Amino acid sequence: MSSPIQVAPDGSLTAPDRLVLPVIIGDGVGPDIWRAAEPVLTEAARLAGKSLEFVEALAGARAMAETGSYLPEETLDMLRTRRVGLKGPLATPVGGGIRSLNVAIRRALDLYVCVRPVKWTPGVPSPVRRPELMDMVVYRENTEDVYAGLEWPAGSPEAEGLIAYAGEKLGARIRPGSAVGLKPMSELCSKRLVRAAVKAALRDNRPSVTLVHKGNIMKHTEGGFRRWGYELAEEEFPGLTVPESGAGPGETRLVIKDRIADNMFMQSLLRPEEYGVLAMPNLNGDYLSDCLAGQIGGLGMAPGGNIGDGLAVFEATHGTAPKYAGQDKVNPSSLILSGACMFEHLGWAEAAKKIRGALEAAVADGYVTYDLARQNPALKTVKCSEFGEAVREKLV
Ligand code: NAP
Repeated sequence: MSSPIQVAPDGSLTAPDRLVLPVIIGDGVGPDIWRAAEPVLTEAARLAGKSLEFVEALAGARAMAETGSYLPEETLDMLRTRRVGLKGPLATPVGGGIRSLNVAIRRALDLYVCVRPVKWTPGVPSPVRRPELMDMVVYRENTEDVYAGLEWPAGSPEAEGLIAYAGEKLGARIRPGSAVGLKPMSELCSKRLVRAAVKAALRDNRPSVTLVHKGNIMKHTEGGFRRWGYELAEEEFPGLTVPESGAGPGETRLVIKDRIADNMFMQSLLRPEEYGVLAMPNLNGDYLSDCLAGQIGGLGMAPGGNIGDGLAVFEATHGTAPKYAGQDKVNPSSLILSGACMFEHLGWAEAAKKIRGALEAAVADGYVTYDLARQNPALKTVKCSEFGEAVREKLV
């Protein structure tokens, strides 16, 4: 089956008014947030003159129980052929067991950009004094870095072999018996990530793209990312971009700047208004996304999307939150807002706008889930499903 979604050479999508899209419901709280989000998404689409249905694609614990595989090939095929999908969180054990299914999906479909917009919804309680100053979009490289899955346990023949090689050939002394990992970062993958960030910043009239790296310590990997980022902007967007060092007062070109990652965490708290689009390697992006999400109310408010050439899977930033699984308790806004991001990607901007407006209206009525209510006792705690229903009722 070929997808009714068409992809132009510049990567933009044209979606028809009627779509059936795959959804991975996910583990842990995945089913809770999906039950709350689905009616909101299908109703917003309907009110915007579209027709949307979802078809389940299996992954995670349910897929294992039903098919004997955590990530059946059929699921990847469905995402490939339909081009755009939605996904709930999938569990990854720490320290052993299966590797991350989330990483596996991103790598199998080469969804090399993770986009996470971080913008405050009025009325949502926040730990910072002026959450309205936060309006950043994280562009996180999704396929390389320490997430490449190249690490070996302490004492294994692979680890010992690498330690011996490093000692003999590179003059690098590593304590015998250490666990070891590799951190690959390439020019190609760094540049394609920064290219996506620069294009988005130019499209959305953002003033700057900040390269967030740890190149002071990891000079060739993270330092390479920084260098390739500046190179890319100069080579492919001359006249449209300018490095911060060359920017003048009232600069109209897109300013490319860079910040060392630890400083960027502090900057995000003290001077959030000075940052717009942030482009960064995989691990920095993972950490910083959650930190920024905390400033707009928490992970329950943080949407995201994994995007490649002509393929995209949208998902909440948070994980399976296992201690809340099945309690109809957590905040479904992250998945609802990921659906809004998906609509924008499809060119269904009106449906996305309706969702954001309805969510804001529901919060303005003082109804929120536990995570937001505990930050402001004046707000009334409702269940995950009740909050979803409140948002659906506010759709106009
Ligand atoms: P997590 O599932 O994101 O949960 C961490 C905390 O964030 C929760 O305990 C809760 O805070 C808050 N939270 C998460 N989702 C929320 C929601 N919808 N509404 C309100 N609060 C929410 O992170 P984790 O416990 O570190 O990871 C659990 C599992 O998820 C692991 O197996 C991990 O590998 C996996 N994971 C998957 C993805 C993905 O599928 N993309 C992403 C990250 C992690 P409080 O306890 O303060 O209430």
